[in-house]
Amino acid sequence: MRLFDSHSHIDDRAFDNDRDAVLARAHEAGVLGVMLVGITQKTCMRALEIAAATSGLFVSLGVHPHDCKSCSEKIMQSLVSLAGRPKVKAWGETGLDFDRMFSPQKDQERWFVRQLEIAAELGLPVILHERSTKGRFLEMLKAHLPPQGCVVHCFSGSKKELSSYLDMGCFIGITGIVTNKTRGEELRRQVRSIPANRLLVETDAPYLVPSPERNKFRRNEPAFVKSTFLELAHLRGDEPAKLAEQTFQNTLLLYGIDETEVAAPGAP
Ligand SMILES: [Zn+2]
Ligand SMILES: [Zn+2]
Repeated sequence: MRLFDSHSHIDDRAFDNDRDAVLARAHEAGVLGVMLVGITQKTCMRALEIAAATSGLFVSLGVHPHDCKSCSEKIMQSLVSLAGRPKVKAWGETGLDFDRMFSPQKDQERWFVRQLEIAAELGLPVILHERSTKGRFLEMLKAHLPPQGCVVHCFSGSKKELSSYLDMGCFIGITGIVTNKTRGEELRRQVRSIPANRLLVETDAPYLVPSPERNKFRRNEPAFVKSTFLELAHLRGDEPAKLAEQTFQNTLLLYGIDETEVAAPGAP
């Protein structure tokens, strides 16, 4: 069984002391591809450095809604100048987050639209972040739908939102929340209605440790995407080997990654 962690932040400082061991454990668990998702100019640079040296690691460039208050066109242009690097496969994460409002709504909306324009110009798929936007995100996404495809990462929306995303052709990213009986209750009910060819799995590491690991670890890591995946297959009543290959291929398709760019099983 091979898996792809379609959304992680292993460039985070939380991994500075043991990143190589983390990647080795991912490989042992069959996680052969990992997308490193940028949230600021600094984290994008760090992700590029890390991914350049290791096969199976890829990078998405972008500024997170939380960080939009300090975004500028200069920052955008410096990210655009990095987009031609071979490991860059996506733009984001971008979107709207009205849950904690770390950036004012007007800044979030301005840079969300700008980043969708940039991704379309560059021909990159988009990694989308949405939280508590009560329809505003959906409205803006509809008006600027990424031509190269997109994933609504860490999906936690309503049934209605899910069907709108599916109608628009979005992929749906499932995190460890699906392993949580209480917090994931709503999501656990919805995963059966997502077509298999639209599903991605992700950790969002170092955040959102899946339930099976939560007693032992405070930090999430790509190897743990297996727990999320197995719970997803269980809830859907799917055969794990078949669903694993499907979600793996979905990830390659969305990000435009060739099989040969992914680490071979058993490779160091
Ligand atoms: Zn996010
Ligand atoms: Zn993230």
